[in-house]
Amino acid sequence: RAIHMINLILFGPPGSGKGTQAIKLVEKYNLLHISTGDLFRYEMGNNTPLGLEAKSYIEKGQLVPDSVTIGMLKNKVDSNPDVSGYIFDGFPRTINQAEALDSLLAEKKLVIDKLLSLKVEDDEIVKRILHRGKTSGRADDNDASIIQNRINVYKQETSPVFDYYAKAGKSVLVEGMGDIDEIFERLNAEVHAI
Ligand code: AMP
Repeated sequence: RAIHMINLILFGPPGSGKGTQAIKLVEKYNLLHISTGDLFRYEMGNNTPLGLEAKSYIEKGQLVPDSVTIGMLKNKVDSNPDVSGYIFDGFPRTINQAEALDSLLAEKKLVIDKLLSLKVEDDEIVKRILHRGKTSGRADDNDASIIQNRINVYKQETSPVFDYYAKAGKSVLVEGMGDIDEIFERLNAEVHAI
């Protein structure tokens, strides 16, 4: 890989602080932040066909189908080639997405350097998401049963992605409880170890 290129996956359950930490990492390392959740919300806000399709899954706390998600992600990466690295937030969420990401990067002679997984307890997750829901305007942040569904989907479909990158020695579990700056320092230490 190019020496200064750093490609990270910020991983963890919904409400684990991925978005918050991604913003801080982007500032420090000058990476392009790609959040598939944000991309879907942008499409939904503009009532595009992609947005309307995504909405029917997102409002139930289910995953948007891989075909849709991978296509959207690929567009975003392809249209931003001149960056010093990518930080993927909320993607990949399935093994299929992880394989697609690895092939997309391989075509560009790039690799994922590290998957940083934020570890947060379930009851804290629910608390954080309900708190965020007061201001996020997100329907999926305001309903306890949708939140529970998102947590279940994470455990069943998404957590295997940690093991997938662990096989390549790239997955790291980072304590995600505590204050924002303290967690950021833990992530920084892992980025410096690349
Ligand atoms: P997030 O903002 O990352 O919590 O994502 C919000 C919602 O968007 C998720 O609950 C999913 O319904 C959908 N979503 C975001 N990223 C993905 C992905 N990589 N694969 C499938 N669905 C996704």
